[in-house]
Amino acid sequence: NQSLPAGGGHGRGRHQHAQRHSRLQVPKHPCAPAWPPSCPWLAPPPCSLLKGSAPFTSLCRSPGTGYYSTLQSYDLPYPEAIFELSFFFHNPKPFFTFAKELYPGNYRPNTAHYFLRLLHDKGLLLRLYTQNIDGLERASGIPASKLVEAHGSFASATCTVCRRPFPGEDFWADVMVDSVPRCRVCAGVVKPDIVFFGEPLPPRFLLHLADFPVADLLLILGTSLEVEPFASLSEAVRSSVPRLLINRDLVGTLARHPRGRDVVQLGDLVHGVKRLVELLGWTEEMQDLIQQETGKVRIAESHGW
Ligand SMILES: [Zn+2]
Repeated sequence: NQSLPAGGGHGRGRHQHAQRHSRLQVPKHPCAPAWPPSCPWLAPPPCSLLKGSAPFTSLCRSPGTGYYSTLQSYDLPYPEAIFELSFFFHNPKPFFTFAKELYPGNYRPNTAHYFLRLLHDKGLLLRLYTQNIDGLERASGIPASKLVEAHGSFASATCTVCRRPFPGEDFWADVMVDSVPRCRVCAGVVKPDIVFFGEPLPPRFLLHLADFPVADLLLILGTSLEVEPFASLSEAVRSSVPRLLINRDLVGTLARHPRGRDVVQLGDLVHGVKRLVELLGWTEEMQDLIQQETGKVRIAESHGW
């Protein structure tokens, strides 16, 4: 076990820490000043991705934004209750009202999602780890095999009594007419495979043991990096591997234990991703991809899907 530094050195340590942070604001690597298309760090596959906005923490920490503001209109004793099994068994209705709100199609993938899709199309994406439960990574066209949805998804469900698995299509019809989906066999409540408090992460999360040691680049996009064990993944890449954080704030282990090859682009996520796409010379491809994918949505809508 490593011991903590003695109390007397605390002030000096903090000062050094702050200095390291300010250095991180400027992209510093052999391709300086920024990330040109020829950057060897971005070229070679595989790269591993870590993404997500930590829905559970935003419930508690960001009143007025995201899921939290939506939940205030529900009949909940406190916001976190929506992901608590004991409350779910007492009253599953608020959770399914929330599910209806998140129905695929109510929200659309953004530029950041399509950037990840482009990485996949180019054969550069090793895996995308996400804490989001909105399913927008799937909606952007990234195949399930490339995803680790660490907090689960609405793509499948399980009977809470007999544990029979159900495909997502089976429960949406009930959810959309505000009724609680029931198991066809035992009439138990069918719960979408979203990870509630105290539940284990999906077995696919174990893929990180194989993925992170072989990644050549770690992209960290739009996250608070506060929810464990997900947050610690940012330290699971080899120490020589660059970590690129595009985020509003300097967060998690990148703030607490910065590494020499970290690159940080702070500010608006979509703006940061667009800038990276520009520097990579992929702007036209991105526009084509987004046009192609949003075109699909329009065709689906015109067919009443
Ligand atoms: Zn059942």
